[in-house]
Amino acid sequence: MQTQPIDFHPPTEEAAPYLLPKPASIFAGRAKRFAELSAGHTLGEWLQFLGQLSQAQHEVLQGLPVLPLPDAALFEQARTHGMPPLNAASLPLPAAWQPALRQLAGHLASQAPEAGQVSLNKLLAASDAQLDELARVLLNGEPDAEQAALLPFVAAALQVVFTALASQLDVSQLQPLDVHGVCPCCGSLPVASVVRQADGISNLRYLHCALCNTEWNLARATCAACGDDEKLVQHHIEGSNGAARTETCDSCQSYLKIFYQEKDMLLDPVADDLATLALDMLVDEAGYERSGPNLLLIGANA
Ligand SMILES: [Zn+2]
Ligand SMILES: [Zn+2]
Repeated sequence: MQTQPIDFHPPTEEAAPYLLPKPASIFAGRAKRFAELSAGHTLGEWLQFLGQLSQAQHEVLQGLPVLPLPDAALFEQARTHGMPPLNAASLPLPAAWQPALRQLAGHLASQAPEAGQVSLNKLLAASDAQLDELARVLLNGEPDAEQAALLPFVAAALQVVFTALASQLDVSQLQPLDVHGVCPCCGSLPVASVVRQADGISNLRYLHCALCNTEWNLARATCAACGDDEKLVQHHIEGSNGAARTETCDSCQSYLKIFYQEKDMLLDPVADDLATLALDMLVDEAGYERSGPNLLLIGANA
C-alpha cells in the first residue's frame, strides 16, 4: 500500500453545492461500468450480475410514474429543523417501493446465480408487511442472517424509488443540514466521494449518497465522517493508476473511498467501490472503520 499526503488543486470554479441524480442515465451508466469492471476481475461473475441488477434498476426507474413528494408543510418543517426533506429513516416508506421490488425481482429471476434466485423467490413470495419490515431493517436496523441475504435486492428497489424522488426535487429545496456527513436529500450515508471533472465542477469533490444517488460538495481534505481537516491520509494500491484511493482519518478512525475522474472519466462510485474491495481490506486491517455503506453489499458480513 502506498500512502501520500493529499494533493490539493484549488477548485477553479464556484462549487455547485448539490448534484441531483439523472434518472435517464444513473443506473444505465452504472450497468455499463459494472460490465467493464467485471472483465478479468477475480470477482467477475458477481460484478457482472450487479451490472444486470443495475440495468434492471434502470428499466424499473424508466417505467415509474411521477411519485408523490412530501407535502409543503413537511418540506417547511425539514427546512426549519435542518433536516433532509426526504428523510428515509423517518418518513413513511414510499408506496412505489414494493411494486419496484417485485418488478426488479421479475427482471432478474432468470439471470441471478443460484443463491440469488433463492433470495428473489423469497422476496416474490413475501407479504407487503414482510417487505416493509425488510426495508425498515435496511434503513434502521441490524439484520439477521436470513434477512441479510435479501437486503441487497431490497436496497436496489429502494435506490430506484429514492433516486426517482430525488430527481423530482429542485436543488433549491436542499440546504446544509445540522448533522454532518449525511445526504442533504434523504439523510443516508455516502458510499464514497468523487473528485469530478465536468463543466463548472472541475476538481471539486462530491460525496455520493448510497441510497438516492444525490451528490453534495465537501471541501477536499476534509473527513466525510467527522469534518476533521488535519489527520487525513490517502492510500492506493501500489502500481494502480490512483483513480481509487481510501482516505483515512486519524481523528475518528474512519475511512471512505475517493475516486478521481481525471484518472478515469467513466468511473461510478457504487460500481468502482465494489471492484476495489482489496483497498477496504488493507485499511480494515490497519484498524479503520468504513464510514458509509455500499447498499449492494449490505448484510454480507451479518
Ligand atoms: Zn440520499
Ligand atoms: Zn474523521
